[in-house]
Parts: sequence; structure tokens; C-alpha cells
Amino acid sequence: MTTTRFAPSPTGYIHVGNLRTALMNYLIARKSGGTFILRIDDTDPERSKEEYVDAIKQDLEWLGLTWDKVERQSKRLDRYADAADKLREINRFYEAFETPVELDLKRKKQLNMGKPPVYDRAALGLSEAEKTALREERGNGVWRFKLDQERIEWTDGILGDISIDAASVSDPVLIRGDGQVLYTIASVVDDTDMGVTNVVRGSDHVTNTATQIQIIKALGGTCPDFAHHSLLTGPQGEALSKRLGTLALRDLREAGVKPMALLSLMARLGSSDPVELRTEMAELIEGFDINRFGSAPTKFDSEDLYPLTARYLQGLTAEQVKDELDDLGVPQAQQAAFWAMAKENISTLKDLGGWWDLCINGADPLIAEEDQAFVAEAMSMLPEGPYDAESWKTWTTAVKEATGRKGKGLFMPLRKAITGMERGPDMGVLLSLMQVIRARG
Ligand code: GLU
Repeated sequence: MTTTRFAPSPTGYIHVGNLRTALMNYLIARKSGGTFILRIDDTDPERSKEEYVDAIKQDLEWLGLTWDKVERQSKRLDRYADAADKLREINRFYEAFETPVELDLKRKKQLNMGKPPVYDRAALGLSEAEKTALREERGNGVWRFKLDQERIEWTDGILGDISIDAASVSDPVLIRGDGQVLYTIASVVDDTDMGVTNVVRGSDHVTNTATQIQIIKALGGTCPDFAHHSLLTGPQGEALSKRLGTLALRDLREAGVKPMALLSLMARLGSSDPVELRTEMAELIEGFDINRFGSAPTKFDSEDLYPLTARYLQGLTAEQVKDELDDLGVPQAQQAAFWAMAKENISTLKDLGGWWDLCINGADPLIAEEDQAFVAEAMSMLPEGPYDAESWKTWTTAVKEATGRKGKGLFMPLRKAITGMERGPDMGVLLSLMQVIRARG
């Protein structure tokens, strides 16, 4: 049975980068009828905030990425302490006392000598007496996991065969001097305890995975299958990390992006399958295959979300957007016609207001010099409203006969005079909805 998890730290709002991780884990679980866990990685009491836990849940619910269970790392500290004890028992855990400044100096020296900046394990040579003295002088040390110096290998669901030389990695700190348990061990203990079978996360975690594989084995656990997706870049390939703050899911929701548009894009971006709008989650689940994703950085352009949102909206009936139409004040009797016209001319529901405003308040006419006389004549022939579905046809036929104009030369000046725009909705439907035509004078 498949079990996956999405494990955000509640230190901010989730953005499109996190969403990719959440969605892939969700789709894997759902496709196999497995379990999807929302795991809140809140071992850092200073940076973790309850408001972000709530916000993460709201954002996932908005998208329909529902979870089967919530787990919180802050409630599992005993389990992490047990694991730490076990690592001490088997001599894979040691206390180290270097200050950040000392570590930095060591790193610089190594780099100067052309060596990789790997922690030199000096703390392993400390006697008990020296440790006691250091503890008195500097407080408790950090606890490092002693890596076995071998190659760490796994077959990654996206990156393929990976082999990392443990000698090129520093023994990871798993517990800080102040006792705070760090993500690296907490995550391993959770994945093991919760029977997580598949871990999908960003490729910034590849080195973590190497060390976590050794920790899992040291604790007697079974390694899940790992897959590391590439990181998102901006449309020009520029790093997105700085801008991710502006790509929070709540901002996209606020901008009118629809969940299925966002999910359809993120479930395919960076894979060898084309992006296609899916209107049902079941279709996304069905069509998902992690092995089709590539390791190259994935370009993300939030502008792509709007045509997808538009296409999604075109598939909706007036009934399905009734709340929005009611909010705008579109009378029930006109909702079907208004929606049929407007849905072809919006990218989000936020654009609806502009079209309704046009219907009830009209627009400043746009009339070219050479069309002045023609438009004036046409307007004198336009009866007073209310108009119906036939009004445009009847009127333009009469104008055609009176002026001899036809085709574009007939219709375009009238469209511009009535709507103030060169293109837009079907004029027959639009006119039937219009209450004010400013060009009529
Ligand atoms: N809290 C970690 C993060 O957000 C989780 C990484 C993981 O999936 O293991 O980066």
C-alpha cells in the first residue's frame, strides 16, 4: 500500500514550488488508492506559526488536495529522542562543540588547500574530560550523525541512478546545542513510523536524501522510494526562489486563477506530456506518471495560468457561476445570455464586472473621423431599448440598406461606437443585454 506525505514547514504561505511537491505526492497516493499524509514540520518553535498551519490547510482545501491524516512533528519529540538514543547506543552519534566561526575557518582552510569543505570530525577525538570541559565552557554541543564512508546509491524516480560519496558530505547535525531536533532526523523517524513508501521532494534535498538513507538503515528502517523533482525557474530560466514569495497560492487565488487550471499546469509542467486542461481531479490522477518528469529545471510562467483558467470557465454553465452573477446584480432572466457572451471574453471571473458594467452603463464611443456621419445616421435608426436577440440583426440590415455599407465597414464602426472597443463579444447578444448606449446621444 502506498503512503506519501506533503511535509511543509509552517513558516510561510505555500507557493507554486511547494505545490508541485504536494501535488505529486497527492497524485501518487490517490492513483494507487493509498494514503496521503499532511505532515507539519514544526520542530522550529520560533519560526513555526499556527496561522501558517491554517493557511496551508486552506490552500490545499481550495485546490481539493485533501489529506487522510495530519501529523505534527512537534507532537512527536519523544520519538525523535528515542531515535537519538539509539544512534548513541550504536556509536553513530557524537557531540561536537565547534562554534560557527571555528567551522567557517576550517571550511576556508580546506577550500584554500583545494579540499572539499567537509567537517573534519575533530570532535570524535575528544576525551570525556575534554567534552566535560567544553560543555562547561560553551554549553551543550550539537549532535552529529557519523556517516559510513561509502557510496550511497539509490534509483531516483526522476533523476535515475544516483551515487553520492559519503566522504564528500559532512556528518549532518541532527540535534542543535539548545536541544532542538532538526528536520533530517525527524523526517526519517516519521517516514519510518508512518510507513511512508514514496517520497517526492525538490532536488535541493538530494544530499539530505543521501544522509537520510544511512540514518534510516542505522535505525533499522526501510527506505522509501525517492524522487526529486527539478526546481522551478522563471520564464527566462532565472532563479525563482526570490520571487516565490509573490507566487503564493493565495495570491493566485486572489487573482482569479482556478484550481483546476493551476493543477493541470503543475501536474504536467516539466514532464514529457503536454499541458492540457483537466476539469476533474480523477482525470489528473489517472494521467499522472512521475517517471515522465525530467531533471532539467522547469520553467514556470504564471501567465500560462490565465488561458487555462479561461478555458476552464468556458466549460461552466451560468448555474455554476450563479453566485458571481448574483453578486454583480445580473437579473436571473439575463444570466444565461450574459454568461454565454461573457465567458468567451474573460480570463478570470474578475473580468465579468467590466462586461456587466458595459451592459448597464454603456461605453464611451470610439468613432473614427471618417465614420462620424455614418455612425450618426446609424444611431438615428437605432430604436430605444430594451433590445432583444433580433435587434442587432434588424437594425444593421436597415442601416445596410440606408447607407450601402456592408461587411467590416458596416459592423466595425458600430461595434466601436457601442462598446468603445475594436473586438469583443457577439454583438447580437451584447446589444440584447445593453441598457445604455452612449453613442445614441
Ligand atoms: N519540511 C521539509 C521542506 O519543506 C520537508 C522536505 C521533505 O519532503 O522531506 O523542505
